[in-house]
Amino acid sequence: MEEWNYEKRFPVIGSYDVLVAGAGPAGICAAVAAARMGARVALIERYGVLGGNLTAGYVGPILGMVGKGTMRDEIMGLLGVPENDMIGEIGIAHDMERAKRVLAEFVAHENIHVFLQTPIGDGILKGTSLKGLLVMTKEGLGILEGKVTVDATGDGDVAYFAGAPVEKGREDGLMQPVTLEFTLEGVDESRAVTCIGDVDDVELNGERFLDYCARCAEQGLLPENLAAVRLHRTARPGQRQVNTTQCNGVDATRVQDLYLAERELRSQMEILVKFFRENLPGYEKCWCMASGDTLGVRETRRVIGEYVITAKELAAGKRFEDVVVHKAEFIVDIHNPAGAGQAEDKIQYVVPYDLPYRCFVPLKVENLLTAGRCISGTHRAHASYRVMSICMAMGEAAGMAAALCAKDGCSPRSLDVKKLQDALTKKGVDLFSE
Ligand SMILES: Cc1cc2nc3c(=O)[nH]c(=O)nc-3n(C[C@H](O)[C@H](O)[C@H](O)COP(=O)(O)OP(=O)(O)OC[C@H]3O[C@@H](n4cnc5c(N)ncnc54)[C@H](O)[C@@H]3O)c2cc1C
Repeated sequence: MEEWNYEKRFPVIGSYDVLVAGAGPAGICAAVAAARMGARVALIERYGVLGGNLTAGYVGPILGMVGKGTMRDEIMGLLGVPENDMIGEIGIAHDMERAKRVLAEFVAHENIHVFLQTPIGDGILKGTSLKGLLVMTKEGLGILEGKVTVDATGDGDVAYFAGAPVEKGREDGLMQPVTLEFTLEGVDESRAVTCIGDVDDVELNGERFLDYCARCAEQGLLPENLAAVRLHRTARPGQRQVNTTQCNGVDATRVQDLYLAERELRSQMEILVKFFRENLPGYEKCWCMASGDTLGVRETRRVIGEYVITAKELAAGKRFEDVVVHKAEFIVDIHNPAGAGQAEDKIQYVVPYDLPYRCFVPLKVENLLTAGRCISGTHRAHASYRVMSICMAMGEAAGMAAALCAKDGCSPRSLDVKKLQDALTKKGVDLFSE
């Protein structure tokens, strides 16, 4: 191949106090929290809709819990979602269409410039300091400068581009499967069962529903890896949110894996609808009314930070002096990386736990924070804190931290965490209650 140099220089298209990469549950909260602290913020999102998995991924219900007073409560209110407690009750999936509008309004703040349809392709570094992001817009490639960047891409793209250490998956490298969620319409509520997964012992004709599905899979009525049929109610009667398709062995940060998985998952949707219609009472006339715009990614890179939180600490409800998310709660929910159903036979519950600030501060790169599912934790710990309520609270804390750093001219590594805790508690966020 002919050798050539590509020496084009890219224009700086904006300079901000805080860059927020990715507008999922963590990113939107980070952007709004930073803006409310007075920072000038760029919120950068590769898709044309805000919300990440919460909208484009068609993922619902919003699960998990955190201490009172966070932005999670504000967003639940705006979305009109009845409170649900994953551990006890069956959650109700939010209205995806309403969420797209509500989140677009939520980030409408004079301090926030929203860059939609703008994938981030690289980090611009001076030594180990992150100075900005190379983005692709409909107007061409350009650089957004930022004093501090919050990586809320879920995949830890920015941290990875900037050279921070990352890990993926469990010890054998396998990650949780990808899933494409979809919504069924036409379900007869007077006869139809619903089942949110392993924690749910709902019965069908005297048999545990999930055992029935497993039996159907053994008989060839359902592909084996689709035996864990998870159905959630939505705000509308006659609908079910289906979290059942699954593709194993996919690394969603490898571009070659994405199309193969997307194709496989969409074909599974048809198989499932046929199975529901032919085998489940109340589902005889159901049809798929909508699906995610893209496959849903549970697990990719975890960015190694100043502290790596473990599932043991979650199970013990560990308290940290540098707590920035308090009383986070959700089971260690590992969808089997190597096959059907859950990875572990016994459900590991947690005691409401703290997330320390150090989990948000990546090693080796300055001016960078993480928020959302890519923060620093083990494979098993990630399986708990990755849910959307907890990601929102993380985003809020990281956004406030970024605004404080930009104002004080310090890197997140040297931020006085007491200042951040003061700012959070002043806003009404509970960090220290028993
Ligand atoms: C199938 C499935 C089912 C789930 N079920 C539930 C559930 O029922 N309840 C629950 O609470 N949680 C659930 N989860 C987990 C939850 O949805 C995610 O862990 C959570 O959304 C993570 O939030 P986030 O903000 O970190 O990332 P995301 O929601 O993934 O948002 C990241 C955003 O960054 C953007 N982005 C990524 N890379 C770039 C780039 N290079 N440039 C620009 N933008 C970029 C993305 O487009 C996206 O908008 C589920 C996940 C999956 C996949």
